Amino acid sequence: MTGLIFKNEYSYSEKIQQMQNDAIYDIGFDSDTQNAGLKAANKILCTNKRMTSHKLFLSNNCVFNCAYCGCRCQKEKDYAYTFTPKELAKLAVEQAKIHKQGIFISSAIYKNADYTQELISKTLKIMRNDLGYKGFIHAKVMPGADPIVIHETGLYANRLSVNIEVAKSSGYEKIAKQKNKNNIINPMTEIYEQIQEHSKNNNIFATSQTTQLMAGSTNEDDRTIMRLSTALYKKFNLKRIYYTAFTYKEQAKGYEEEQLPIIRVPHWRMVRLYQADRLTQLYGFCFNDVTPESNPFLNEDIDPKAAWALRNMDIFPIEVNKVDFNTLIRVPGIGLVYAKKIIEARRYCKITHNMMRRMKIPMDKCSYFITCNGKFEKDRKVSEENIKSVLVPKHTQISIYDLLMQE
Ligand code: SF4
Repeated sequence: MTGLIFKNEYSYSEKIQQMQNDAIYDIGFDSDTQNAGLKAANKILCTNKRMTSHKLFLSNNCVFNCAYCGCRCQKEKDYAYTFTPKELAKLAVEQAKIHKQGIFISSAIYKNADYTQELISKTLKIMRNDLGYKGFIHAKVMPGADPIVIHETGLYANRLSVNIEVAKSSGYEKIAKQKNKNNIINPMTEIYEQIQEHSKNNNIFATSQTTQLMAGSTNEDDRTIMRLSTALYKKFNLKRIYYTAFTYKEQAKGYEEEQLPIIRVPHWRMVRLYQADRLTQLYGFCFNDVTPESNPFLNEDIDPKAAWALRNMDIFPIEVNKVDFNTLIRVPGIGLVYAKKIIEARRYCKITHNMMRRMKIPMDKCSYFITCNGKFEKDRKVSEENIKSVLVPKHTQISIYDLLMQE
């Protein structure tokens, strides 16, 4: 690659400071509501190992003008920086050592998608070949990047991701005018195919793909999001979808005609989406279970599994000593770990309410939905009012970071 022009008027440490500020625009959390601030905003989860990756930005100098993003070209910036691959590689390896984490390299689109992708791939190559970094690398793939540069990046990364951003393709035109379905879906397809091909031949290449979706950016309901998520997981064998709360704080230049409403999607919606996502990916629920046509929005007060149970009271109570694993995990309060414990204990004896309490299963939550040896726990009066009183959680205290780390 020749003719690189970098903005060198800023010092290395100034670029780092500005990068920390920009990291909030492209993360796996609702940064506005993460009280842990920048520290949390700079982390993204690699859930296969329950570890976090430290996030670094190659550039904030974007040629695109997405309405919601602080890096957009028509927003005045205090700093427009672009690291050289050498600088960023050095910083990444230092940060990996300090934080004992993997590294997530992302970027705004500097000049054009292929050029930026080449810089990212070059950064990764230096990290691996010159600096001997052997840890986890998650690398962002730019919208519309060419298959050749995607391939080069994948040779050094463990994970690749393209942000799908909106739940309806009509949303690109409204809030991210230079993006479209093709320049997002094509690289996702390319990554999927390259991962398949390389794993078949046992070649070194990234092994997983993720994406990020902004909830509320197209005024869509949660059913639309869950239906899309289900399709994306299936089509691209995604490792994970990260949900972020769409936030539009000020009128953006270039979007005068659209007259976009100022909006800040609440934190609780992200919590519910992450919970619904796990139900569809790990608990055998389908998007129709968690967001049926009659209830297309997730409930602020009740988590999606409890809401599903309330809508399906005719199948409860279930007998803990008889039902299979897949039925047990549909009971509010009984997760994958508790269900395994129950199944294991059943090999030796009949399960009682007392035993379940000793297993630390939250009986307040589940006892309306189960019988042990044909009996409800004493004093349980099954009524919608009673059930709701124990199912309403203190959701505002749930941190998405904690939710993901608990899996
Ligand atoms: S492509 Fe859009 S979202 Fe990404 S950095 Fe550029 S302006 Fe921001």
